[in-house]
Amino acid sequence: MRRTAVPRVRPGRRKAFQRRLLAWYGRFRRDLPWRRTRDPYRILVSEIMLQQTQVERVIPKYREWLIRYPSLEALANAGRAEVREAWYPLGYNIRPVRLRDIARAVVRRHRGRVPASREDLLALPGIGPYTAGAVLSFAYGQDAPILDTNVRRVLRRVFLGDRTAPRDRLLWKLAEALLPRGNAYDFNQAMMDFGATVCTARRPGCPECALAGLCASYPLTAPRTAARGTAGLKSHDVKAVVHEQDHPRDPAGQRAAQEHRRIRNLRRVRVPAQRRARLHHLEDAAETLHRPRGGRPDRARRDGVDPDAAGA
Ligand code: SF4
Repeated sequence: MRRTAVPRVRPGRRKAFQRRLLAWYGRFRRDLPWRRTRDPYRILVSEIMLQQTQVERVIPKYREWLIRYPSLEALANAGRAEVREAWYPLGYNIRPVRLRDIARAVVRRHRGRVPASREDLLALPGIGPYTAGAVLSFAYGQDAPILDTNVRRVLRRVFLGDRTAPRDRLLWKLAEALLPRGNAYDFNQAMMDFGATVCTARRPGCPECALAGLCASYPLTAPRTAARGTAGLKSHDVKAVVHEQDHPRDPAGQRAAQEHRRIRNLRRVRVPAQRRARLHHLEDAAETLHRPRGGRPDRARRDGVDPDAAGA
């Protein structure tokens, strides 16, 4: 690998990167419990738990932990052995002790409020630049960059090429330069999701990648699977694929996208024209059946609501 300098990113390329990444995130983001809160304590707990641990293992422990220690104060009063025991089986048992020490420092130095400045966060025990950036952007909505393993990999591959070994200092600058002002929350979450699910370390999904046209490393891999037909798939799954492709922006399309992800490799399904035409024909027929004579389609009935009750 060669050392390299971070390139200047032209505004057009930066904008295209932001736009494509955020559009991808809008469709495929993961629904994670710590994305439903802006509470700095909860964000902090999730970030410490996620260090070196897979999301699936963290989710149940995150919920359990917050029941046992619902606030910084509750955690600050806990003993060392107790927090280690509560952390089991996540591993790396120094982490719960660090988290407890952070809680104590916040209570002592900041009256129980997690600080909103990088300087104050970095002065807390066990908080480094990544965790500080995560708290600032996820809890306080500040335009703060982050750089974890996933983000590092995406930035390197897209802007520098896979065979480079840039210094972290340069990648931090790149991460900061790419941040869309006022939207660091979504952008940072998108970068992490993208690195965890598409631009993965071992099997990046280059053939279907939303950033392929901008990526200096494309293509790193051949298709994960060849596109396949619809034989063997249930008709509601085929319907989900067609609906999502036809209506990528509407809420039903979003629901279809979830369905789409639920089934392995459905993204690679190619719906034969004949089957697609038949589905459209059936939809049209259903709509005609529920259309009042001379009027617009009856929305209440189409949405499965009893029209009498809806009009009452
Ligand atoms: S094209 Fe491949 S290497 Fe480039 S961002 Fe997409 S998945 Fe990653």
